[in-house]
Amino acid sequence: MQLSASLLILAVSTALVGSVKVKSLVFPTETSTSYVEVTPLKGLQLSAFTLCMRLATELRGEREVILFAYRTQDFDELNVWRELDGRFSLYLSGEGVFFSVPELGSLETHLCITWDSGSGAVAIFLDGRKSLTKIYKKNHNIRSGGKIILGQDPDNYLGGFEAKQSFVGEMYDVNMWDSVLSHSEIQDLASRKNVRSGNVIDWHFANIQSHGQVEVISHEV
Ligand code: CA
Ligand code: CA
Repeated sequence: MQLSASLLILAVSTALVGSVKVKSLVFPTETSTSYVEVTPLKGLQLSAFTLCMRLATELRGEREVILFAYRTQDFDELNVWRELDGRFSLYLSGEGVFFSVPELGSLETHLCITWDSGSGAVAIFLDGRKSLTKIYKKNHNIRSGGKIILGQDPDNYLGGFEAKQSFVGEMYDVNMWDSVLSHSEIQDLASRKNVRSGNVIDWHFANIQSHGQVEVISHEV
C-alpha cells in the first residue's frame, strides 16, 4: 500500500514536472580533433539495427559530413553521412546506399535508419516520416570490436580524421537498438511520446568521452 502510494506520488510529480534533462553535443567549429567516443551497452555484432539521433547543422551543400561512425580495425563497419549533394547515406563496409530526402538544416531533425540483414530492407526516417525501402547488404553482419565516434570519420582504428568531413552543429539523443523498430514506434520517438532508449546505445546513460572542442551541454526537453 505504502509502496503503491509512493509510486503514485512519483508518477504525479513526474507528470507535473513534465520535462527531462538531456545531454547534447555541440561541435562549434570545423576541426580534425574534436570528437566524442560513445561506449555501447554491448558489442555491435548486429544483423539488424535501428539508429536514431536528433541533429542540426548549417553545413548545407558545402561538403560531406559524417553523422555517425562505427569502425573496427580495418573497416568502416557502419557509417552514416550527409553527402556533398545533400543525400543521406549508409555504408556497411564497402559500397553505400543513398536516400534523396529533405536536407538537414538549422532546425533539429529527428533521424532514424533501420536495416535488417535477412531481407536487406533499409529505410530512413526524418521526423517520423519514412522514406521508400531499399534493399542493401542482404545477409551481411556487422562485426563487434570497434569504436563508435561522433563528430569525425576515422580512417584507421581511432584517427585519420579530416576536418572537411567533420560534423559541425548539434547532436543528441543518439540511441541504437539491435532490432528494427516499427514505423509507429519511430513516430512516437520523434514526437517524444515514447522516451524508450536503445539497448545497444542508451543516450540517457551512455558513457561518452569528449575530445577537443566539443561542448557537452544539458537542456530540458
Ligand atoms: Ca575519412
Ligand atoms: Ca572512414
